[in-house]
Amino acid sequence: MDDAQLEERVHECGQRLAAGLAGADTGGLRHPLAAGERRMMRSLIGDPRLRAALFRFVDVRPACHSRTELVRHLSEFLEEAGAGSGNARRLARLTGRRELTLPTAGAAGLGVASMAHRFIAGEDAQAAAPELSSLWEQGRCVTLDLLGEATLTESEGERYAQRCTQTLRALAQMSAGWAPNQLLEHDGLGPLPRANLSVKVSALTPHLRANAPERALSAARDRLLELLRLARELDAHLHVDMESLDTRESITELFLELLALDEFADGPPAGIVLQGYLTDSEEQLERLLGWLEQHPRGAPFTIRLVKGAYWDHEVVLAAQHGWRAPVFTDRRSCDRHYEHLTRRLLDARAGGMALRPAIASHNLRSLAHAIAYSDALGLAPDALELQVLRGLGDDTAAAIATYGRRVRVYCPVGDLVAGMAYLVRRLLENTSNDSFLAAQTTGADINLLLERP
Ligand SMILES: Cc1cc2nc3c(=O)[nH]c(=O)nc-3n(C[C@H](O)[C@H](O)[C@H](O)COP(=O)(O)OP(=O)(O)OC[C@H]3O[C@@H](n4cnc5c(N)ncnc54)[C@H](O)[C@@H]3O)c2cc1C
Repeated sequence: MDDAQLEERVHECGQRLAAGLAGADTGGLRHPLAAGERRMMRSLIGDPRLRAALFRFVDVRPACHSRTELVRHLSEFLEEAGAGSGNARRLARLTGRRELTLPTAGAAGLGVASMAHRFIAGEDAQAAAPELSSLWEQGRCVTLDLLGEATLTESEGERYAQRCTQTLRALAQMSAGWAPNQLLEHDGLGPLPRANLSVKVSALTPHLRANAPERALSAARDRLLELLRLARELDAHLHVDMESLDTRESITELFLELLALDEFADGPPAGIVLQGYLTDSEEQLERLLGWLEQHPRGAPFTIRLVKGAYWDHEVVLAAQHGWRAPVFTDRRSCDRHYEHLTRRLLDARAGGMALRPAIASHNLRSLAHAIAYSDALGLAPDALELQVLRGLGDDTAAAIATYGRRVRVYCPVGDLVAGMAYLVRRLLENTSNDSFLAAQTTGADINLLLERP
């Protein structure tokens, strides 16, 4: 298939996904708040002062113990943003009032809380169980992520490891009762575990910093080792998330070192995240593929390709130190590179590697490109996994499932306070002018959104 034919296929796949999205929209019954939230997102995109005010409000929301406090904070923040502005009035209308009166502000506070709940599946795995079962019934598999405060002490690291242990056990137990689903639990490389946990290695130790790698590795090693042993025992998948660049080397080295141990030769299935926004991500991918070739294991390895969630952090940090930014600073280059990495991953799978490519994005162009290229290589539909975040990618997940492809929903669990930092990051990311979801929210033409980057 030549370039032009591939482009044609990308557009066809993209249009099919978009049609699925439109269908998901009319089924807004699943999320009665979705339309209101979309209006709020539109307001946020166009008004930086309102964005700043609401982010500050969202931040203090869990610390508010009474409605009075809540109202006071919201009023103060909106006053700073110029409460008389059109968008502030729109926010008031969103909650059904003509003006932002005190009861309305309270309702907005509750709205923020319920919005956070859409992003967070529950306080823990048990609380999230009905939601996880329901996703499975709708043809979507899951991975769980435990939200928490920053790990500042060894006992907090230990506590996080214990929560991971409890979550793995709870997931294995609850998922045993789910109905069989061929697409979600098998591919050409063998069975796919129903229980799947995403772990943040920096939460396992307070010392994961580049200037103390030895200390960090020894502190996190034992905890990660135990989690791998438990995942093998329960036949679960353990995935390692990637965070800011200063921890990438320590995390990668530690994880690969442990997976290479004889005791893990046949399991568990495991995986790592590759951040395509890093300009050296191709070298990182080649390193991972080289490692896989040298360490053949009985259990497949998943590489989850994301763009990266710490773009602002990396850019600001580099500017502070007078370094060159380690990330692409032009959106189109970033997207082009993401497609390049997607093709490399799928080529490696087509070449016979025990590799599971997982394309994690809400960008229909990125997803459609992955599907079209995978088909062009002649790979079976189950060879490619697509992944989205709960709350942001619900409609996209529905569209992917309707398309007949495997979709995994990344479900954070934790309390509301811990969830706030997560919510703010997701909102900031997705109401920035550079985001695909922002463009989609403001009604951009699908043909333009599907154009080659
Ligand atoms: C299942 C799942 C798991 C994830 N796990 C991780 C993880 O472990 N680690 C992690 O870092 N992220 C993770 N993410 C978050 C992911 O990185 C963000 O969702 C993603 O960055 C948003 O990309 P998109 O393709 O959905 O949207 P798009 O709108 O297509 O892309 C937005 C992204 O482009 C990049 N970008 C923004 N502005 C610019 C610019 N000016 N120049 C160049 N690039 C720019 C940023 O990375 C931004 O997030 C995960 C996402 C999913 C769906």
